[in-house]
Amino acid sequence: MEVRGKCALVTGGGRGIGRAVCLELARGGASVAVNYAGSEEAARETVERCLELGAPDAFAIQADVAEEQAVAAMLAAVEERLGRIDILVNNAGITRDGLMLRMKDADWDAVLDTNLKGAFHCMRGVYQGMMRRRYGRIINISSVVGLRGNAGQANYSASKAGLIGMSKSMAKELASRGVTVNVVAPGFITTDMTAALPQAAQEALLATIPMKRLGAPEDVARAVAFFAGEESAYLTGQVLCVDGGMAV
Ligand code: NDP
Repeated sequence: MEVRGKCALVTGGGRGIGRAVCLELARGGASVAVNYAGSEEAARETVERCLELGAPDAFAIQADVAEEQAVAAMLAAVEERLGRIDILVNNAGITRDGLMLRMKDADWDAVLDTNLKGAFHCMRGVYQGMMRRRYGRIINISSVVGLRGNAGQANYSASKAGLIGMSKSMAKELASRGVTVNVVAPGFITTDMTAALPQAAQEALLATIPMKRLGAPEDVARAVAFFAGEESAYLTGQVLCVDGGMAV
């Protein structure tokens, strides 16, 4: 994958899958803007590691992707520093699990606002610049749950399925302008998000994975880097599952 000299923004890039994506792009020679919402320390650490790996530039930038104004300010600041955004990775995501019967509007709104509307804000923000330059790589992090559903995750699965629909629409809107939009759908990956699941839920999930093991953030990052590469120009609107066979 050729990302040398490209400028990337990764939402939620400070930790977990987002951090692995930042490091993979940095290793490839891209400059990286590491977005975070609350984890400033983790984002700074990611920045340091990006620079060690050879990123020409890397810096942390705070913004809650659910907030339209905050995203506009973030995109302006990134473009000011890097000159442009060639690669956008919409990775920021949260869960607020529970059976629908007991799900509060606030749990629904928080998940949809962060996971789906956040990606909408960022994509709309980079749209014109990428179109004008006739180059762009947008990669949205969905989930196997967005394809298959999961009891207790109606809000999360709706947000992740929504990301797939939105990405396919955007792929069609931007295809003739040299901008590709693709989706990576991870299965069960070792991060803070999955560590928070009760032991019984983790064991039940493990039983559904043909490879009988969890994935690593780096497994997802390599798939993201594949779509982010210059050579992947003829690939758009695709969903790539990184899941040890879970969705087969
Ligand atoms: P983590 O909980 O480890 O990290 C979540 C990241 O999202 C953090 O960097 C966090 O930043 C950021 N974030 C959350 N809310 C916001 C917000 N409002 N604005 C900006 N950033 C925000 O999760 P993972 O690394 O596991 O997940 C990353 C993505 O991958 C998510 O979209 C998740 O849904 C998806 N995914 C994960 C799977 C897994 O098994 N782990 C499986 C399938 C999909 P901060 O700490 O600063 O708040």
